Amino acid sequence: PAVESQGLLKNINPEQLAAVTAPAEPMLILAGAGSGKTRVLTTRIAWLMQTGQVSPGGLMAVTFTNKAAKEMQTRLGAMLPVNVRGMWIGTFHGLCNRFLRAHWKLAGLPQGFQILDSSDSVSAIKRVIKAMKLDEERYVAKQVSWFIASAKEEAQRPGDIVPHDEQTRTMVAIYQAYEDQCKREGVVDFAELMLRCYELLRDNKPVREHYQQRFQHLLVDEFQDTNKLQYAWLKMFAPPGRQQAVFAVGDDDQSIYAFRGARVGNMVDFEREYRVSRVIKLEQNYRSFGNILDSANELIGHNSKRLGKNLRTDAGPGEPVRVYEAASDFAEAQWLIEEAQALHRQGLARKEIAVLYRSNAQSRVIESALFNAGIPYRVYGGLRFFERAEVKHALSYLRLLENPNDDTSFLRVVNFPTRGIGARTIELLQDAARASGRSLYQSVGAVAGKGGNNLMAFTGLVDSTRNLTQGLTLREIIEQVLETSGLAEFYRNDKDGAERLENLGELINAAEAFVTQEGFGKDAVALPVDELSPGAIAEGFPAAVAPANFTPDAETGEIMSPLAAFLTHASLEAGDNQAQAGQDAVQLMTVHSAKGLEFDAVFITGLEEGLFPHENSLTDHDGVEEERRLMYVAITRARQRLYLCFSQTRMLHGQTRYNVKSRFFDELPEGALKWLTPRNQGFGSGFAKEYQDAWSRGSGLKSMVGAGRVEKPAYVAAPVPRSMKAAAAEKVAAEFGGLRVGKGVFHTKFGEGMLMTLEGTGQDARAQVNFGRHGMKWLALSVAKLTPID
Ligand code: ATP
Ligand code: MG
Repeated sequence: PAVESQGLLKNINPEQLAAVTAPAEPMLILAGAGSGKTRVLTTRIAWLMQTGQVSPGGLMAVTFTNKAAKEMQTRLGAMLPVNVRGMWIGTFHGLCNRFLRAHWKLAGLPQGFQILDSSDSVSAIKRVIKAMKLDEERYVAKQVSWFIASAKEEAQRPGDIVPHDEQTRTMVAIYQAYEDQCKREGVVDFAELMLRCYELLRDNKPVREHYQQRFQHLLVDEFQDTNKLQYAWLKMFAPPGRQQAVFAVGDDDQSIYAFRGARVGNMVDFEREYRVSRVIKLEQNYRSFGNILDSANELIGHNSKRLGKNLRTDAGPGEPVRVYEAASDFAEAQWLIEEAQALHRQGLARKEIAVLYRSNAQSRVIESALFNAGIPYRVYGGLRFFERAEVKHALSYLRLLENPNDDTSFLRVVNFPTRGIGARTIELLQDAARASGRSLYQSVGAVAGKGGNNLMAFTGLVDSTRNLTQGLTLREIIEQVLETSGLAEFYRNDKDGAERLENLGELINAAEAFVTQEGFGKDAVALPVDELSPGAIAEGFPAAVAPANFTPDAETGEIMSPLAAFLTHASLEAGDNQAQAGQDAVQLMTVHSAKGLEFDAVFITGLEEGLFPHENSLTDHDGVEEERRLMYVAITRARQRLYLCFSQTRMLHGQTRYNVKSRFFDELPEGALKWLTPRNQGFGSGFAKEYQDAWSRGSGLKSMVGAGRVEKPAYVAAPVPRSMKAAAAEKVAAEFGGLRVGKGVFHTKFGEGMLMTLEGTGQDARAQVNFGRHGMKWLALSVAKLTPID
């Protein structure tokens, strides 16, 4: 084996070798990104096994994300012919789950215990609060759930908390009742997995000693992001001063989970408590070329709280870091897709191209552009936009407005947010519907009692929302639905709701973009195409082409409502454009979920003040330092090429927001960067503004290109000045002489109605008419015969 192991140790440097072959004692490897920490950890596992120092069952390795755990198993599998799936290599939660599955009885759990996700857990807490007859305004389920999760992360049971006031005393009582309920139902929430595992080890000596004997080696990757409970959990397996060898690797500069309780201090504590005699530092970076590394080093140098270390590379400077300023988020997506396609044509596999963003909501525009271009992509560490739970909930309410008999949508939201409709009531309802062959919505009258009343209240809510939204724009409809359904309120109160709210805001943006692209809505005006760049047209300026959803009924001239058209669009995009397993696909993920990974080419998008660094972080110094570490993580994912991009305008909650570029640009070495667009001085001096000004002067885009002010006209787009909209609207009105918004019209099939909206020109011209009994309809004027009545 000694000879064989030489193969493993062939391609590593002396410091790495020292770490890999270190004696079986507590070790701390403190090193920057791309210096081979994970490689050292994996190689050490292989080396320990190959030299017979440990069997595959005798070690445990922990990391943070499923993707990283898989990656570790794959790398190990490539080094050694062992069954890696049987080994204890995984995430903290994954390993705790495995542990509790093995010791369910001792842990006091039923054999097939179920895991509650965070929204299940909130509903459970809500039930408890109700049962206790507490004031639900004072004890909001989401806040209580946050209180309980934080207590669990501190390893505190209800009895361990000393309440200092009435409010806390009651919260503790809810915590207790919630525990009892989970016990009765045989379920555990996420935080419970970890805590239950920890407690079993702490309280059961034989089990603890068994595992302490079994795992001679514990290896922890990304140690800088462990929280208090995770560290305590590790100490159960390997108490300081005992025989087990704990091998921890980490990088304080990559600590990005402080907001969830991670403690960089664990590294310092570990060094002290385990009496680590030698901290190994790795300073050679093997991942990135010089320009990328210089950028990372210089950026992180702006942080004050660091343990201190640097990185160097022998790879040479490589390509410059490219910086691109887009006029809009849409243009940013468009540009990066073209760039990614070019890289792909040059021979780069798609899976070697990563698009990173700070917030999940940003993925929507990028996904949409990839979808339209027919490029396979995969979203990691989160669901694709239209598949996210909160987005699906909102879409279900919208579908019920269009079609109350949509049973799937009905079931999805009938009790979300909770409104006292339990499983039993749903069963009764489903039985009644089955018996009569009608939809759930049509069968609510058949259910008696309190459950039945609550069902009636729900259908009443759907009906009244439909009435409330008559004649509103798509955007207004969605806003209304988010409020009346209680969804917005629910996520506003949710501990983890901020991101979900952002996604709901993004749904409004998606609708807004859809409306302009498809030519629906009052803001859409037809303008001569030659005045617009291709990018501007794609951006949403209506072209003189009939959109796909604009196929009128041959007889009545009726066309899909913007809502129906949008819902169709949403189902299509939620379809299967996501790459098949194994298919070569562009990788989309948040910066957080990119930790530990590497790619040949990396795009960091949305580098704007308020977005990255995120606005929530800007109020305190530590917040900005954490954002900077996050940026450091992002930059150091790239091997060969790095692109930084930002956009002057971005849709936020359906409104265009003007951006200032991220402060991080001022913290990067000028010499390593190459600006693909002229570097400007930030706010208010961007293309979009200039373009708009030029346009309102009547000179348009061409004058800007002529003056050399615009380098890539294909990507320039700006909001249409109001005066132009007015002019275009007048033109429409002139074309359909007799028709006037607000006046009566007559349709041969639907009868008399009130004209609400008039838009589009020529073949595209359409009207929205309220026909009272027949409801609100969209009609294609080229087909429908509408006569004005006075
Ligand atoms: P991060 O902090 O981002 O998690 P890391 O320190 O864990 O990074 P690795 O992912 O282990 O770094 O290594 C970065 C890259 O460098 C990998 O592609 C790895 O295979 C390569 N690498 C590491 N050490 C060497 C070496 N001695 N010779 C050649 N390549 C190496
Ligand atoms: Mg790593």
